[in-house]
Amino acid sequence: MFVNVDAVDDSANFPEQVDVVVIGGGIVGTTTAYELACRGVSVALLEKGLIGGEQSSRNWGWVRQQNRDMFELPLAMHSLDRWEALSGEIGRDVGFRRSGIVYTTDNPASLAKWEAWGEKARAHGFNSQLLTAEQAHDKAPGTTSRWIGGVWSPTDGHAEPSMACPAIAAGARERGAYIHQNCAVRGLDMTAGRISGVWTERGLIRTASVICAGGAWSSRFCRRHGVELPAANIMGTTLQTTAGPEVTPGCLTTPKVALRRRLDGSYTLAMPGFGRVEISPQGLRYATKFYAAYRSKLAKKLQIRAGRSFFRGPEAAGRWEFDQVSPFERQRILDPAPDMAQARAALAGLQAEYPALKGVHIARAWGGMIDTTPDMVPVISPVDAIPGFTIASGFSGHGFGIGPAAGQLAADLVTGATPVVDPAPYHLERFAKGSRIRQPEMM
Ligand SMILES: Cc1cc2nc3c(=O)[nH]c(=O)nc-3n(C[C@H](O)[C@H](O)[C@H](O)COP(=O)(O)OP(=O)(O)OC[C@H]3O[C@@H](n4cnc5c(N)ncnc54)[C@H](O)[C@@H]3O)c2cc1C
Repeated sequence: MFVNVDAVDDSANFPEQVDVVVIGGGIVGTTTAYELACRGVSVALLEKGLIGGEQSSRNWGWVRQQNRDMFELPLAMHSLDRWEALSGEIGRDVGFRRSGIVYTTDNPASLAKWEAWGEKARAHGFNSQLLTAEQAHDKAPGTTSRWIGGVWSPTDGHAEPSMACPAIAAGARERGAYIHQNCAVRGLDMTAGRISGVWTERGLIRTASVICAGGAWSSRFCRRHGVELPAANIMGTTLQTTAGPEVTPGCLTTPKVALRRRLDGSYTLAMPGFGRVEISPQGLRYATKFYAAYRSKLAKKLQIRAGRSFFRGPEAAGRWEFDQVSPFERQRILDPAPDMAQARAALAGLQAEYPALKGVHIARAWGGMIDTTPDMVPVISPVDAIPGFTIASGFSGHGFGIGPAAGQLAADLVTGATPVVDPAPYHLERFAKGSRIRQPEMM
């Protein structure tokens, strides 16, 4: 099993009652618990496996505003400020560096898209710089391709996925949050139509407020309670190289490869946009809602095939009772196998671009399951049908970067504080039966 995440201690005591239970210890759950604990709210963060063990430690580590959906941009902009502050507040390094992000291209259509996106982003107060061919070469020195231009976002950055969630969870614990790993939430306890607690594998915790931040599992959890959260999980492959000379201090995407320089001198690499979807009961249930997304340019890089997801894991069908072992405990850490052909192609792309990196090898490769919504914008929303239930999920491949602001927004929603950004674009109701689903804008 692939796990590359720092360890974090559980709390000494298991609570009988709290104000808020947060399900899932990824970046969204840990930052939500941290924000609530900072406000003096009693909160329990329950994780079925390890804090940060799924997507939040398996991602590329990019923290970006550039090319985000306009609905997401306010969250992304606020999140950069939170990332900047977190290490200092907590007294632990989350690995955040505001290194800037560069995209280079040899395709005029990409340049035109970045230009159009930049104009819309300026209306939100975000400025990045479109690069000429010469400037693109200056920003990506040592690359062999002929760039016709690029885009540079100096206020973007990156953080370290193996460090961030454990550091934030420890910060939450030190501020009074209960943290418990290997503790799945099996379901909600309901009294007179409202939440009265959660059933965990260690018994009942009484609470009136639950935030579901279960990543790839959230949709299945919600369905058990009759709540439809349309989701499709896409498997992405990432790799870490051995250490090599520094060719960029931060993050760079070329048409062949996306790379990030890590703190230890190695690189995180991937093929931009590539992924795999397995046919599953969940996928079939929501297929029509995802039609537009799958038909878009993304579909060209997506493989769709049969696999184990039909029978096991977050996308499978099947009911469970809350006094029985649940699907969440049967798979403590979702660890899809990487596509090694893709990993090798990413390394070849890197070495074709940077002859200076001919000597680096694949140190390890891993898979990660990305939970997506039909419009590729997250759901951060109360569930109208279940008073006291809030969803913060469906981060569609962007949640590491926007996680800290999403956690703040989720905390605002459950405490009644003024929301840090307008929550309307993230409401679950936009996917209600008969609603027109917006085309994904993400690049
Ligand atoms: C290959 C890859 C590359 C990516 N690159 C980037 C990037 O560069 N930048 C970026 O911003 N984003 C990126 N992402 C997306 C990003 O990683 C996710 O959007 C983000 O981590 C989602 O965080 P989360 O907290 O919602 O989910 P997760 O990190 O998946 O956490 C959910 C947690 O909930 C737990 N859980 C589920 N159900 C239960 C239950 N019933 N009881 C208890 N616990 C439960 C799970 O065990 C899991 O730990 C990438 C993702 C992948 C896979």
